[in-house]
Amino acid sequence: MGATFEDFKFNRQLLNAIDDAGYTEPTPIQQKAIPPILNGQDVMGIAQTGTGKTAAYVLPIIMRLKYAQGENPRALIVAPTRELAMQIEENIKAYAKYTDLRVVTLYGGLGPKTQIEQVSKGVDIIVATPGRFMDIYLAGHLVMKQLQVLVLDEADKMMDMGFMPQINRILEVVPRKRQNLLFSATMSDKIHQLSANFLEFPTVIEVTPQATPAQTVEQRVYYVPNVKTKINLLKYLLDNTDEIKKLMLFCKTRTVAEDVYKFLIRKYNEQEVRVLHANKGQNTRINSMNAFKNDEVKILVSTDVAARGIDVNDVSHVINFDVPFVTEDYVHRIGRTGRALQLGEAITFCTPAEEYYLHKIEKLIRQTIPVFDVPVDVFIEQTAFEERQEQAREIDEQKRKEDPEFKGAFHEKKTLNQRKKFDAAKAKANPNSKAAKDRAKKPFRKKR
Ligand code: AMP
Repeated sequence: MGATFEDFKFNRQLLNAIDDAGYTEPTPIQQKAIPPILNGQDVMGIAQTGTGKTAAYVLPIIMRLKYAQGENPRALIVAPTRELAMQIEENIKAYAKYTDLRVVTLYGGLGPKTQIEQVSKGVDIIVATPGRFMDIYLAGHLVMKQLQVLVLDEADKMMDMGFMPQINRILEVVPRKRQNLLFSATMSDKIHQLSANFLEFPTVIEVTPQATPAQTVEQRVYYVPNVKTKINLLKYLLDNTDEIKKLMLFCKTRTVAEDVYKFLIRKYNEQEVRVLHANKGQNTRINSMNAFKNDEVKILVSTDVAARGIDVNDVSHVINFDVPFVTEDYVHRIGRTGRALQLGEAITFCTPAEEYYLHKIEKLIRQTIPVFDVPVDVFIEQTAFEERQEQAREIDEQKRKEDPEFKGAFHEKKTLNQRKKFDAAKAKANPNSKAAKDRAKKPFRKKR
């Protein structure tokens, strides 16, 4: 390949901004996507975040629009989350720094007033989440007649998040004649269908085979029996791995994220850890994200939804505290590390109930993730009764998914008997417990 940015015949303003960003050569997606986009063709790009896909469409858009003109937007970029939208905006501002192009970002979670004020001052490029864009459009604050380029970024995620109706509305309100660009981390039937409706004779570009994690990410998995052992292992890894400079820690739910966060701030300095999830206010989320980006904190605990598309460059490690249920999320998660030619490491903790998902991931990425032994110094906790029950129930559920005939090793009757035994043990341990009182009421067990 060996192409340079000069080969694209970008103007001086753009080349200087690229230079300032420190990019010496275009990434593979940029090499492949920039020429057809500059030619005005529709493009479908299959590329995960971390490949340089944002610049692949933003640079040609800036080249096309050149400078501020009129009042109405000429490019619209639609993205699934506010974090991603903000990050795209940041990219545009960096690449357009030597132009007077105006960019406005529209997303929910904040009142629309400021955003409306901004668009009414005149705008060239809008970055938006689908819902907020439609709200502001329907309130009459946007004229889309001058639109030339429409980008759907992370289209697969937008579909997963149920944004299809809003996207269809957007397609109805923009001019028919326009350039369309669609980016997706994965290629699926749904994306294929969307591209058939949305794109005209598209140039299809795929930078890596479907859902293959970056080559620069080393992966490993530890099998652990339960959550408490996960915590012990996490502590061990943090205490014993000097290479962990910047860590993103993924949890399956807000509750787990909050628990892990609480553990970490008890163990370490509160200044070193932040948590990011949908329950937090918008400002807290922005603050956490920026603190992590700017290296003010070393660890960011997050859920998948909150972390989607966040661009933090130099994450040294990703730890999957839980195996993601949505298989593709694994690829997105570990895409945070090993970015733009740096080495990274992705470590996954897996309980018996999560093996099912891990195997699905291995199938998707067409790789076997190396299994590491839990270090001898990590204390292996007993699995508490309730967690064991929960795991057994989940495993039954997984087996049933694969085989609807499956009856379940875990019968209701067994549950009931085990629960009684458990209650009896609890009653013995604590005579004041509810279980003890219940037992006191029924001192004789009926024999069947
Ligand atoms: P993206 O895939 O758009 O999320 O970009 C991932 C990261 O790569 C971003 O931090 C970009 O600033 C960076 N990047 C984009 N293009 C290049 C390039 N040609 N050379 C080096 N880094 C780049």
